[in-house]
Amino acid sequence: MKVPLLDLKPQYNNLKSEIIKKVEEICDSQYFILGPEVEKFEAEIAEYCGTKYACGVSSGSDALIIALMVEGIGAGDEVITTPFTFFATAGAIARVGATPVFVDIDPKTFNIDPSQILEKVTSKTKAIIPVQLFGQSCDMDAINDIAKDNNLIIIEDAAQSIGSEYKGKRIGSLGDYGCFSFFPSKNLGAFGDGGIVTTNDKEKYELLKIFRNHGSEPKYFHKYIGGNFRLDALQAAILSIKLKSLDTATEKRQANAEEYRSLFKDSKLTENEVILPQMANYDVRHIYNQFSILVKNGKRDELKQTLIDSDIGCDVYYPVPLHLQECFKALGYKKGDCPISERVADEIIAIPIFPETNYEQREFVVSVIENFLV
Ligand SMILES: *Cc1c(COP(=O)(O)O)cnc(C)c1O
Repeated sequence: MKVPLLDLKPQYNNLKSEIIKKVEEICDSQYFILGPEVEKFEAEIAEYCGTKYACGVSSGSDALIIALMVEGIGAGDEVITTPFTFFATAGAIARVGATPVFVDIDPKTFNIDPSQILEKVTSKTKAIIPVQLFGQSCDMDAINDIAKDNNLIIIEDAAQSIGSEYKGKRIGSLGDYGCFSFFPSKNLGAFGDGGIVTTNDKEKYELLKIFRNHGSEPKYFHKYIGGNFRLDALQAAILSIKLKSLDTATEKRQANAEEYRSLFKDSKLTENEVILPQMANYDVRHIYNQFSILVKNGKRDELKQTLIDSDIGCDVYYPVPLHLQECFKALGYKKGDCPISERVADEIIAIPIFPETNYEQREFVVSVIENFLV
C-alpha cells in the first residue's frame, strides 16, 4: 500500500470539467491580471472569513510583506513572532528591514506562547505576527490584549488556516490583517502561487490595493513605493471554484483526524512513544492543514525513515526553528533560547491527513508506527 503525504489529483479530477471550462473562458477573454475574477474572489473570501475586505496578492509571503509595508514597518522596528513556523513569517519581517524578535511556543498547540510576549516588547516593537500553525488558532484574546495595551499592530499569519476559527470567529478576522497563502499544498490551493490579505479597516484596504500595484494611485503617480504583488485572474477563478468545496474537504480532514485518534488509542502506543496533536484549551475549529505527531525517545528520524521505506509520505515541519537559522545568526540567538521550539523541532513529524485518504491507509500508517515504536 502507498500513502502519499498529499495527492492533489483526486480533488482536481472532481472539479476538472468546471475548471477547464473557466480557464478557457479566461483565455478567450485575454484578461489576466486583477479584474472582475479577482474582485469576485476577494468578495467571496471576505465573506468566508467574516471580514469587510480582502485584497488578492501574489503569495502568502507577499501578503505578509505588503501588510508590513502598508504599516510603514522597516529599519529600526521590531516585530514579535514565533520561531516555530515556515521561514516566510520571519523572512517577511527581515525583508522590509525590520528585526524579527522570537518568542517561544506553547508545547500543546505549537503556537506562540502569549505569556512570554510582554517581556519581549520594547519601545521599538511595532507589530506581532502570530502564526495559526497547522490549522489551529493561537490564543488571540491574550495576544490582542497585549497589542492593545502596547499600541501594536496584529498581522495574523493565517497561511495554513483558512476556515479555522477562534471562539466562533474566523481566522483572518482576529487582528488588523489576515495573511493567507494559496500555495498548492495549503487547504485552499491555487494552480501556482497566490495569496490574500483580509482586513476590516477601509483605509488599510485602500492602501493594500495601492501597494500591490507599485504604490500607484492614480496610474503613474506614486505617493508610495509598493511592488508587484498582484493576483492573477486565472488563479482567482480556480480558487473561487475550489472554495465551494473547502468546507466539505475540511470536514473530511477533521474526520480523518478523529479516525487517527481512535486508531492510536486502540494501538499499543502510549504517550511514552507518541503524542498526538492536542487541542487548545479555548474554543477552536482546527482545520488540520497538517496532522503532526511528536515522537519521543529520540526516535523521530528513525521513524521517518521507516515510514519512507513503507511508502508512507511524511515530513518534518519544521526541523530548524527560525532563531537558529544561519541567516539570522546576526540576531544573536543561541541554542536554548526557545527550548520548547527546539524540542518540538526534534520530535515532530507530519503524517498524511488530506481529505481523499481512506481508513485502510490510516490503519496502515498507525500499524507501521506501532510496529516500529513498540
Ligand atoms: C506557506 C506559508 C507562508 C508563505 O506562503 P507562500 O504562498 O508560499 O508564499 C507563510 N507562512 C506560513 C506559516 C506558511 O505556511
